[in-house]
Amino acid sequence: MNTEFGKKDDETFVYEERVSCDGGQYGHPKIFLSVNKHEITVCPYCSHKFLLADKINNKNG
Ligand SMILES: [Zn+2]
Repeated sequence: MNTEFGKKDDETFVYEERVSCDGGQYGHPKIFLSVNKHEITVCPYCSHKFLLADKINNKNG
C-alpha cells in the first residue's frame, strides 16, 4: 500500500464507504462514490483520489 497517500491535494482519506465529490475548485455535478478498503477510488470527473481509512492509529484520540 502507498503510505504516501493523502499528502497530495488530490488525495483524500475518507472514513465512510460512501463519499460525495463535487470537484471542489474544478466543479462538476455532485456524485457519490463507493470507496473500498485498500483500493484507491478515483473520481471519474476530477480524478480526485479517495482511500478508505482503516483503523488509523491515533494516539491522541
Ligand atoms: Zn470529483
